[in-house]
Amino acid sequence: MDLSALRGNERLKDQLSRQERGRGLSHAYIISGPAGSGRHTLARLLAAAMVCTSRGERPCGQCGPCLKVLRGIHPDVAIISGPDKGKPIAVDQVRAMRADAYIRPNEGERKIYILEGAGQMNASAQNAMLKLLEEGPRYASFLLLADSAGGLLQTVRSRCEELALLPAGSGEEPEGERSLLAGRLADALEGAGELELLEAAMALDTKGGREELLALLSALETELSARAVRGGNRRRLLRAAELVKKLQGGARLNVNAGQLSGWLCAGMFEDL
Ligand SMILES: [Zn+2]
Repeated sequence: MDLSALRGNERLKDQLSRQERGRGLSHAYIISGPAGSGRHTLARLLAAAMVCTSRGERPCGQCGPCLKVLRGIHPDVAIISGPDKGKPIAVDQVRAMRADAYIRPNEGERKIYILEGAGQMNASAQNAMLKLLEEGPRYASFLLLADSAGGLLQTVRSRCEELALLPAGSGEEPEGERSLLAGRLADALEGAGELELLEAAMALDTKGGREELLALLSALETELSARAVRGGNRRRLLRAAELVKKLQGGARLNVNAGQLSGWLCAGMFEDL
């Protein structure tokens, strides 16, 4: 399995790769770890692997289904989150998911549900979830994201495999240089002309490979959003933040840094 978009966690990636080659991926996982540890990244990679049509390594990141999952537009991959920000998934939502699960997949052979904040679901929602795990259609897979698996009922846990991610930054990172680069790029995105931006965007071609590129883009997105809140050229900052989000998707798909900087410049000056 190509799980390189997930930072660190080598043991877990190794374990999953062996599982995929052996008996195949499971139909239910609990992906636990603190915020920033890569829960969503891993969920997307697993979902992509499940629908990928490549005969080689999965997820290939290049076939139609992979691209749709990584762009968040695959019709058979649903992300379920609470009814309001910060609210846990409610029992009605689990019931609706159950009804939906019985409708056959649109495109492939699998249907995948990614549940956010699964550890915060109350007992009735979890019990409805348990039923779905026990009796749901065979083509349905469930990825339960949680801060820690401890928030889930033992009965639910026993139906899933647990993937515990390490906190972000467990290894050492070239933090300082990255934030410097992110700052320079944000300057250029906020105020520079096209050529100047193109020059600044060459910084995306980091020496650290894709992992470092993703970290840089994420630092850049944070920086742009922070600037937009503070004021400044909000229109440009917000557009830049949006573009950087798209770039992160591209970087996960192995699009090279040169192409990404091209997208960034083209996107900024499209119709501004
Ligand atoms: Zn694929």
